[in-house]
Amino acid sequence: PASRHGLDWTRALAFLARERQSFAERNPASAALAAQASEHLLFGVPLHWMNDWGTPFALHVCQANGAQVTDVDGHTLVDFCLGDTGAMFGHAPAPVAAALVKQAMRGYTTMLATADAAAVGALLAERFGLPFWQFAMSATDANRYIVRWIRAATGRKKLLVFNGCYHGTIEDVFVDLVNGQPVQRDSLLGQVYDLTEHTVVVEFNDLPALDAALQQGDVACVLAEPVMTNIGMVLPEPGFWGEAQALIKKHGALLVMDETHTISTGPGGYARAHGIEADALVLGKPVGGGVPCAVYGMSADLAARAVQAKQDAPPGHSGIGTTLTGNMLAMAAMRATLAEVMAPAAYAHMLSLAERLAGGLRGLIARHSLPWCVTQVGARTEFQFCSAPPRNGSEAEAVLDPELEHLIHLALLNRGVMITPFHNMMLVCPQTTDDDVGQLLRALDEVLSQITLTA
Ligand code: PMP
Repeated sequence: PASRHGLDWTRALAFLARERQSFAERNPASAALAAQASEHLLFGVPLHWMNDWGTPFALHVCQANGAQVTDVDGHTLVDFCLGDTGAMFGHAPAPVAAALVKQAMRGYTTMLATADAAAVGALLAERFGLPFWQFAMSATDANRYIVRWIRAATGRKKLLVFNGCYHGTIEDVFVDLVNGQPVQRDSLLGQVYDLTEHTVVVEFNDLPALDAALQQGDVACVLAEPVMTNIGMVLPEPGFWGEAQALIKKHGALLVMDETHTISTGPGGYARAHGIEADALVLGKPVGGGVPCAVYGMSADLAARAVQAKQDAPPGHSGIGTTLTGNMLAMAAMRATLAEVMAPAAYAHMLSLAERLAGGLRGLIARHSLPWCVTQVGARTEFQFCSAPPRNGSEAEAVLDPELEHLIHLALLNRGVMITPFHNMMLVCPQTTDDDVGQLLRALDEVLSQITLTA
């Protein structure tokens, strides 16, 4: 039989056809809404990639609470996607819901600060160890703004990223390393200026390449996730960040840690837990419990240089911020999330459940003799279609298999379990239970038994 990633691909395709049929039969209300939406929504969904889940038509949901999502056909799904981190602390956490209800009667946006502003600033400074903060509406924008501040503050133009990274739709980062050469990602729509002019790209875990790329002295900052999480997962090799920080400092560049996903590590993120001292930090998605908002923090030195750059610039548009930034609802949501939701006790529960999940997955992989591996960063677990964890973006990309992912994700949905689309990521939240993890493992076991070569 045709083998693919240790599976019998002929059996897998027959299984997929049955699963598509079963999905269609299980979800008539979603089918009807999808048909209706396609009349006036481009692509039939609010955002074009909502069609990329691998379901025959878009699943529509009506409610999300804790670790559960209810779809419009009345199925309760155990949610290990959690809005791809936006709901990392559970859907509609009670303290956030209460803060929103209270604020909802008192206005949403005025272009002025409320008493929540100073409180959120203090909570962020204490948690992440950086003294000065600003806000944005998405992690994408927070990245865009911090890069703009740093370019202005340093007078340097170039941005350095790691091959295979994702930091939202900030244009600058879409440069790949192809046969050692930087190449603008050709899937970008409407990109009319050359991104390779100001973006430098090297492989993760490649210190000599990092050193060489910084040599010219024209890199303003390195923008990186401490662990790559958007191309499967790629962990830093022992000592990588220690050496990388020294190189960045030596060449006068700054380090920006994008902790949007790696906040799964613990209350202060990966960098704090591993002694990485970044000049700036970005966090979006979960920081307001899933309410649209994001934050970025700076060291005292960078903050002073940013203030100077602003003072030196002529009056007018800065290119930083949007009208709804720091709005009253977002500030209330962040205060509640930081003060009451992203707490050590929540993490303790999440981390121990994720350990159990990762162990369970390794057990399944071994039992089905699959050449797959499991990677974990705190509450975040990923299985990848290679026997050893990838060491850089190229290796990680080489083992991506969207067709196989679609098959697994669809079959899990049909069994009441949702994992993150576009890769194989499972996040646990404070409300995820041991039984939920058991349900995921049983469902995956059943799926695998129907498609493996050895079965
Ligand atoms: N940074 C990282 C590390 C991300 O993974 C993402 C989104 N997946 C973003 C930034 C952008 O977040 P958003 O789409 O909410 O702007």
